[in-house]
Amino acid sequence: MFEPFWKEVGDDATVKISGWEKMSYTSSCDDDICWFLEPAFANEVARLHRIVNNAATDGRYIIVGVGSTQMIHATLHALASIELRHPVNVVSAAPYYSMYPGIVDLMKSGLYHWAGDAAAFRGDDNFIELVCSPNNPDGTIRHAMLGKEAGKRVHDMAYYWPQYSPMQGPADHDIMLFTLSKATGHAGTRIGWALVKNKEVAREMAKFITLNTIGVSKDSQVRAAIILKVISDGYEFPKPSGAPQFFHFGQHKLADRWRRLRRAVQESGQFSLPRFSPEFCEFFKEYAETYPGFAWLRCEDQKINDCEDFFKRINVLTRSGKHFGVGQEYVRISMLDTDANFDVFIKRISSLD
Ligand code: PMP
Repeated sequence: MFEPFWKEVGDDATVKISGWEKMSYTSSCDDDICWFLEPAFANEVARLHRIVNNAATDGRYIIVGVGSTQMIHATLHALASIELRHPVNVVSAAPYYSMYPGIVDLMKSGLYHWAGDAAAFRGDDNFIELVCSPNNPDGTIRHAMLGKEAGKRVHDMAYYWPQYSPMQGPADHDIMLFTLSKATGHAGTRIGWALVKNKEVAREMAKFITLNTIGVSKDSQVRAAIILKVISDGYEFPKPSGAPQFFHFGQHKLADRWRRLRRAVQESGQFSLPRFSPEFCEFFKEYAETYPGFAWLRCEDQKINDCEDFFKRINVLTRSGKHFGVGQEYVRISMLDTDANFDVFIKRISSLD
């Protein structure tokens, strides 16, 4: 979805790394905790958070990972390692990001295990709650569901960027995860980062990444730094030519897609979508709508038992609600595909009678 923006930016976002550069494993910085963190990348992360004002970075450790997927593994490892009782229960409120159960149980770790929907959790304080806000799949703003005094929380903030959701000021949680995939569209660069308050947790996370992948691609971090810099420069030093600004571009495009989807859904009369009220966005400095990266669509027609199967029959690939801890009357549909694919999707959904 963001490809046309980056095409228009052109060479300003092109990265050149010579054959002799960034060759070795050696430390990227003096940081004794995250030794593989490229300073240019760390600076651009802090700068963009400052400009968008979506997360507090002062006094936080920045840990870089191979996507926020590796950050989730690292975080679970770190939090569970410093607990005394194992396995720690890992929960998230349904509908939860469908990869969480698989990620949590992948290693069959003795340290932690998946314990399902946070709303149904009846255990004691031995838990880690994954709080995804704005939430994948349904775009809602989430707060921790289980008591603040007990357990631990990881805030997955992949979608807390102005193109998706009105910015409500800087988040200030103990552990916040972000990813280039959703911030800028560069999922293939495989870069995620965590902002971590506690030094011991940060150290354990970095240790996990050291033992798991001996750090994180320096090439990818250099590319990510340039991509983030282009976005920040677009706001700090706007071009007189009125060149597009990234979050404005993204919001505009998503607004158009959501308008078209809502119209098609309304005309079909068979489905429903979540509704959001406009909120004041601290970044755009105006009231803004929520435009999630996914449509969380419910098949309202009683004759449709399996919504994913229904869409398959019109050649639309969706992900069933059953993977998100709810029923198969729900499906998740990506709103972030290419323009061409999105057009086909709207055409197919509009052809239903
Ligand atoms: N968390 C959430 C909520 C996501 O939606 C995704 C990507 N779908 C990820 C984490 C993982 O992102 P990545 O590994 O590409 O950084």
